[in-house]
Amino acid sequence: MSQVKRETIECPNCHRKGEFEIWDSVNVDLDPELREKIFNEELFMYHCPHCEHVTGIPLDTLYHDMKNQFMLFFSFFKEDDFDYKPMDMEVPKSMMKGDYTFRMVFGLMQLKEKIVILE
Ligand SMILES: [Zn+2]
Repeated sequence: MSQVKRETIECPNCHRKGEFEIWDSVNVDLDPELREKIFNEELFMYHCPHCEHVTGIPLDTLYHDMKNQFMLFFSFFKEDDFDYKPMDMEVPKSMMKGDYTFRMVFGLMQLKEKIVILE
């Protein structure tokens, strides 16, 4: 299931407020248009409804492809202590079977690259 929440964003250009959809997780089997929005980067772009200024929003998300059996934990920025931190997550039992692939990816280029490779 894809999860979305709405947040109020202040436009850095005109300083007026608008709503932005933040995707905590993306399931491309259920919402295939979200894959497209990652490749054209619309998922990370806030369009100001007042002045049409476009702002990049560096949000983290979980990318889930059930058909091709992979999950990508995406973050815009690499955490300094990442190498020392164990991956903290719960995997549903149904996913332990099969050949699910889990990867951490940092930055949009890497995310797109990994999606194409794993598909
Ligand atoms: Zn604006």
